[in-house]
Amino acid sequence: MSTVSDGKVVIFHYTLTNQATGETLDTSRERGEPMPYLHGAQNIVPGLEEQMVGKAIGDSFIAVVPPEKAYGIDHGVEPEAVPRTEFPADAPLQPGMPLRAQTPDGQVVQLWIANLDDENVYVSQMHPLAGVTLSFDVEIVNIRDANDNEKTHGHPHGIDGTSGHGH
Ligand code: ZN
Repeated sequence: MSTVSDGKVVIFHYTLTNQATGETLDTSRERGEPMPYLHGAQNIVPGLEEQMVGKAIGDSFIAVVPPEKAYGIDHGVEPEAVPRTEFPADAPLQPGMPLRAQTPDGQVVQLWIANLDDENVYVSQMHPLAGVTLSFDVEIVNIRDANDNEKTHGHPHGIDGTSGHGH
């Protein structure tokens, strides 16, 4: 019987909630299609990936994941205001959107948009879910071996491993 381990593509349904507030943050069930990921390739947050190990097709469970194994702890750093004029006029800016910025010494840093107003974009070094304990309601739909392409790329190519995605 197939269980979750490195090199397997795991196809699962999940509903992600903020454990403290009960707010639903995301759910594959609403989209109707389960999500595939390649186990051992850091496609999903570390705390969820480690709780997937050994699970079998048909298993359902709740995985509670603390911030340090999800999107990081909340450092309490205030977002920084950046004038909207520094962004392209047609950029589809919205809260939670990831950005990459380059520091003057050429380092690339990952940033997120915390919020927006008419004049400024408030940019944070913390993921919008930093400091949040996540609760995943998981159902394992299928487990299959990753094909060579998927192993090389480090991610699944769809539910059955055949879907192209432009590379
Ligand atoms: Zn690929």
